[in-house]
Amino acid sequence: MKYYVLFGPPGAGKGTQATAMVEKYNLHHISTGALLRKEIAAGSELGKLAKDLIEKGNLVPDEVVEGMIENEFQTVTGVDGFLLDGFPRTLPQAEALDQIIAKTGESVTATVSIMIPDAMIMERIKGRALKEGRADDASEEIINTRIETYHNQTEPLIEYYTKAEKYHEIDGIGTIDEVRDRIFSVMDKF
Ligand code: ADP
Repeated sequence: MKYYVLFGPPGAGKGTQATAMVEKYNLHHISTGALLRKEIAAGSELGKLAKDLIEKGNLVPDEVVEGMIENEFQTVTGVDGFLLDGFPRTLPQAEALDQIIAKTGESVTATVSIMIPDAMIMERIKGRALKEGRADDASEEIINTRIETYHNQTEPLIEYYTKAEKYHEIDGIGTIDEVRDRIFSVMDKF
């Protein structure tokens, strides 16, 4: 199995590009953000716990998302691998992921990082807010908290995966097709 991590700041275009990636490489897309929003919509206990945290721009506890990931790995079959979108987002999550995958004798295949500057994050999320109406896209204050959360808690993963020689960064500025082709040229190596 292939285990790809799709990395990048909020608004980098991970969800958009994930669609093309899963299709071309026969992967199962796991978006922790989408899974959490589904729990919120269903009004589950997990959803209730996640709602306030997400709508303030904070992360949900590591154990919650780690459990969701392991569950997907165990229940999805018939694919050549998994595309993790929005996970891991903290160092403990990255370590947990390594341990979960190690149980099957495998390891993370590659991290593909879509990079855009902070100014563009705000612009893109504001555009998305008009189309998707996500509560955590609704105000500049929440978006700024998410950008801060990204820099403080998620960015250290760049060093983690660089040291593991699994970090592949691509420029997220350009058209959707241009960025997609840059991603494909990295993934074609694996
Ligand atoms: P974006 O890519 O715009 O940040 P996501 O849909 O990936 O949006 O995530 C939305 C929110 O869901 C995050 O701001 C966070 O609160 C929560 N979330 C998603 N993935 C994780 C994770 N791996 N760990 C903790 N919280 C998460």
